[in-house]
Amino acid sequence: MGRGVAPPVGDMSAEDFRRYGHELIDWISKYLEHAGRYFVLAPVRPGALRSQIPQSPPHNGENIEEILADVERLIPPSLTHWNHPAFFAYFATSASAPGIFGELLCAAFNANAMLWRTAPAATELEEVALDWLRQMMNLPAEFDGIIYDTASISSMHAIAAARENLNLRIREDGMSGRADLPLLRAYASEQAHSSIEKALITLGLGQRSLCKIPTRADFRMDVEALNQAIEKDREAGLLPFCVVATVGTTSMTSIDPVPAIADCCERHKLWLHVDAAYAGSAAVVPELRYILEGCERADSLVTNPHKWLFTPLDLSVLYCRRMDVLRRAFSLVPEYLRTAEQEMVRNGMDYGIQLGRRFRALKLWMIIRYFGHEGLAARIREHCRLAQLFASWVREARDWELLAPVPLSTVCFRACVPQREGERGEAYAARLDALNEELMRAVNATGEAFLSHTRLHDKLTLRLAIGNIRTTEAHVRRAWQLLNEHLGRASEAGRPSPL
Ligand code: PLP
Repeated sequence: MGRGVAPPVGDMSAEDFRRYGHELIDWISKYLEHAGRYFVLAPVRPGALRSQIPQSPPHNGENIEEILADVERLIPPSLTHWNHPAFFAYFATSASAPGIFGELLCAAFNANAMLWRTAPAATELEEVALDWLRQMMNLPAEFDGIIYDTASISSMHAIAAARENLNLRIREDGMSGRADLPLLRAYASEQAHSSIEKALITLGLGQRSLCKIPTRADFRMDVEALNQAIEKDREAGLLPFCVVATVGTTSMTSIDPVPAIADCCERHKLWLHVDAAYAGSAAVVPELRYILEGCERADSLVTNPHKWLFTPLDLSVLYCRRMDVLRRAFSLVPEYLRTAEQEMVRNGMDYGIQLGRRFRALKLWMIIRYFGHEGLAARIREHCRLAQLFASWVREARDWELLAPVPLSTVCFRACVPQREGERGEAYAARLDALNEELMRAVNATGEAFLSHTRLHDKLTLRLAIGNIRTTEAHVRRAWQLLNEHLGRASEAGRPSPL
């Protein structure tokens, strides 16, 4: 049997595993060290990778050396590099070293934490890690946590619990074909993430069950409008049941006025779910704790360590003060999953739709231990400083403007060259949109930085989101330089240019 070749039965030999494992760790270490040398946004066309891979699977096993060589040759060039320190699009994330170790061990243990007994360590470490995170975020002790894969899934489970809390026998009887059920209504600002609407679709409540509340000029939910919408719905015979507040909206990281929303929920007896998928991590920084003001009164809150807590995808945490309701919504125990200790322990499968559960807590526990509370806070604090620095350059520059406040580490801005004489307002607005779109395309095409966009007050808006653990001031300066170089080029060219 040759080195690196699969034996006729059984797994790879321990010797090969050790040898190629060492080589792989060396390779990963170099990859992370030099992640900034890759094109951050994959410069490939659709189908580029597929065309290089055989259409049928190999009949006989292949040598692991060749497989790893192909990984190196084929995969990085066709990846958008989320580990690149100039990844500024969407919300930047990080695979930190202790997180990668945690993932490696998670795959090696392959523990399925569906029941306490199928993975006692995974179940208990999840409780520990989530309690530590809760303490660092200064959330009340009544919040118990559970790990899911993504915020979309966390919010869906929270809304399912809110619905269960109505005691309408929806678990038992469903919703279809029932004349006794009015239209259930959930409320979220027009800036809420699309995952909230998707959760309502998935839960069979339908898109029309979502009432989108307008925001004020600073993109925060208008609580007066929320109150009015709830009262109007009540008068019309609808059944309000849940409000979703967002702390750190996706487009511009605005923070809904949670204390006032919590008052409203208390008055109307509605479940308050807080979506802090991105911004929740910032609460580990003592001077930023104010962002969660009022959240201590929520029924549930989601935060994603896989966004801004240096945790490799995926790991989302749902904190809930009504775990009994969540359990009531989802627990269903067939005979083959009954255990003698089920009343004494937590069985993860009771708190969600999935049975099998990965040992995700391991990486979070390792990350918290390796960086410590202070280390995590220092890194997030630095990202906020870099965002403020970038925002100050935008503010001071002649042809640029900020389009939203910068409470955390995301800057919304655009190039804003002067209006031409006689140019109509609409034509000017369209020219600025086209200019900014072109700037984003040009900067992204350099491969040196990756920005994304949104629309704010009907203006095409560039977003620079800082969140990668390897991002330094030099990377942010370079992005600013690239933006200005391309703006200068667009002005000089005077082509059919957007300018
Ligand atoms: N909520 C907010 C505020 C987000 O910004 C995002 C993603 O960016 C999500 C939810 C969805 O996150 P996930 O990809 O974990 O489902």
